[in-house]
Amino acid sequence: MLDTQQIMKTALKLAQFNSIPADSEIHVKGRKLRRVLVSIDVGVSELLLARNLNCDGVIAHHPAGGKAQLEGYKVFLRHIDQMKAAGVPSEVARQAVKKKYRVLDIQHHPENYDQVPNAAKKLGLPLVTIHSPCDEIGRRVIVQAIRGLDEDATVRQLVSRIGAFPEFRRAETRIEVRLGSPNRKAGKVAISHACYTNGGYDVAKAYIASDWLGINRLLRELEKNGIEPVTTTDLYTPGRMSVRQ
Ligand SMILES: [Zn+2]
Repeated sequence: MLDTQQIMKTALKLAQFNSIPADSEIHVKGRKLRRVLVSIDVGVSELLLARNLNCDGVIAHHPAGGKAQLEGYKVFLRHIDQMKAAGVPSEVARQAVKKKYRVLDIQHHPENYDQVPNAAKKLGLPLVTIHSPCDEIGRRVIVQAIRGLDEDATVRQLVSRIGAFPEFRRAETRIEVRLGSPNRKAGKVAISHACYTNGGYDVAKAYIASDWLGINRLLRELEKNGIEPVTTTDLYTPGRMSVRQ
């Protein structure tokens, strides 16, 4: 059994983060959690579902309210670091995110940020949002998986390597090549993820729907500590995480 703090710490450790990022938060603290509802999006209905399914707590992926919802957009600036790591000059990267960053900032002001955390409090349900740490775990897993591709690898080979994960094989959506030909050499590859949301046209719009890739790895780690995850999708693959390469 774990408390909410230990759940958050486990995610930070797997993502190699030193502190809780702006888009993640412990909304309602709790101890001795065993059965936990895990959902990409958590509203009041998911809280009631958790209660109906006899869960002791809830883990949300997208910010379920509070500071994570109001200030989570600040994580968007991670795009600058990822672009720089891919060789984009610092000033060009900064300019590329500027417009969307401003839009994200303004967008959150009218949101009803207290409704879900407050409902969780009233229901006595511990509630945690873990957003970019999960995405970073997923990003690292992809980076690791494509590391073995040689210089002549094509875009098709790159896609099939990423698509080999059970999360992508079981998903209804397929990974698509939106720009260019699958037969071309992949060349230098940058994996853009874990920056709150995709960068938009000026940065990178091709976005890998790999939420469960990261979440599944976190849940496996939590399971080792006696947590029983109850997920709102069948894309959770307990103990069946092997990658066919
Ligand atoms: Zn995500």
